[in-house]
Amino acid sequence: MITTPESTGFEDVIRIKEKLGEEKNLHVISEEDLDNFIITLAELKAGTSFSEDSLTGTVDDADIIIIQIKNLDWGENTLRHLKKQSNNFLKPVLLISTKPPEELQFLIDDSLQWPLTQDSFIESLEKLTNINQKLEMLEELDPSTNEFELKQVLLLRHLYSRETSALKPQRNYTAKVGYTYPLANALFDVAPGVETQSLSILEEKKLLNFTIEDKVNLCPNCEHTHINYREICPHCKSLNIFEEATIHHFRCAHVGRESGYLHDGQLICPKCSRELRHIGVDYDKPSEILWCNSCNHNFSEPLLSCFCLACAHNFSPQDAFLENINEYTLSGEGMRAAEAGILPGLGITNILKKEVGFYNIQIFNELLQIELARCQRYKYESTLSKFNLGAAEKVFEKYKLLSSKRFRKDFAEIINQTFRTTDIFTSKTNGDILIIFTNTSLKNTKIAFQRLGELIQNQFDVVLKLKYKLFKLSDKGANLDDILEKMNDS
Ligand SMILES: [Zn+2]
Ligand SMILES: [Zn+2]
Ligand SMILES: [Zn+2]
Repeated sequence: MITTPESTGFEDVIRIKEKLGEEKNLHVISEEDLDNFIITLAELKAGTSFSEDSLTGTVDDADIIIIQIKNLDWGENTLRHLKKQSNNFLKPVLLISTKPPEELQFLIDDSLQWPLTQDSFIESLEKLTNINQKLEMLEELDPSTNEFELKQVLLLRHLYSRETSALKPQRNYTAKVGYTYPLANALFDVAPGVETQSLSILEEKKLLNFTIEDKVNLCPNCEHTHINYREICPHCKSLNIFEEATIHHFRCAHVGRESGYLHDGQLICPKCSRELRHIGVDYDKPSEILWCNSCNHNFSEPLLSCFCLACAHNFSPQDAFLENINEYTLSGEGMRAAEAGILPGLGITNILKKEVGFYNIQIFNELLQIELARCQRYKYESTLSKFNLGAAEKVFEKYKLLSSKRFRKDFAEIINQTFRTTDIFTSKTNGDILIIFTNTSLKNTKIAFQRLGELIQNQFDVVLKLKYKLFKLSDKGANLDDILEKMNDS
């Protein structure tokens, strides 16, 4: 019997063969002494054979993991500890407890109530063995895959191997975005809700299908949803506003609060001391019935202001980020990525694509032909360029910028400042991006690239060496084939 410091429980390995077709390693982790469990398994033996000897081994060798809990917190800690380990994340988990553990349902594949019955136990093991079979069909993962990508692939593979499963958002007020996805959260081992960043990357790459479950407003500074909305004075922004009827005396044009006119049940103008008798004749009551105690202005509509309770940022409601909270399932594309174990698409190339729109390569080549003819004939100066964002991608990833909403928004803005709507884009399968800068000289194209580098450096404090190749379309005798050939040389 092995005790593990992480789970502070007891662990044992049991081999089971019959009825499952092949031998499986069951790794049992229990909150309490395992003797009871082993005895019960022995009692359930009819028709099934368990190895009587306790085998040594770690959870890394397990095919199926069985967790027996009494206490929900212990169960959750043990499961989270297990699910953050990349090599054990996909392993099917059976939870055994005295009460159905609703709260843990997203971290397990099946649950049984203690005491066990033989039929349900074997039925459950068969179900979990099906998951094993699906996992065995998957391609080996490229060992050079970085940790972040690896975990994204694992998440896709989890959905893949559990057919009907979906990632459902769970309300959680301690989460940055007000929701958390327990399984993804345990895998990425982040603060509650931070895992949504990884999910939106998978969504953007079209690997996940989604249905909207909720929309949350986020602070534009720290992306927390804990925003306090309150009404303030539109003149001096004070919170000290209140409602009181307003009186406008026609004769002297004084406008003031009703309480300023009231004397012994009569309305006396505080400015000219005349008595106000008839509404509509002597005075009226304007609709500006909100008053500010700080600046004494009156108004009809207060200003709505947002105050972030997480970072103390003040902003107006229209500046809040609106984020969808989705339920996710695997898309067809995601299924292929899960099988192959490779994630498609470069993050920042996708942002660029979204902002400027890419032509497919055939249409691009036709447009290039037309532009070339125009430049040759009219001495028009247009420039063709080739560059690749692969290196930039790696740098941004290193600084963990890619998953930040703010980064993506800022990067999109830089793109729009650098390129014009008349520029024509396409990308090749190797990630190279071709752009026709219409009516732009070689010199000005260089300036545009320089500017792109500078904007990125200023905004993100990251120095990028953008390598690009330029080709002048007005060069005498230039023809499409030569240009494309030259562009292909790296
Ligand atoms: Zn904030
Ligand atoms: Zn005021
Ligand atoms: Zn008056």
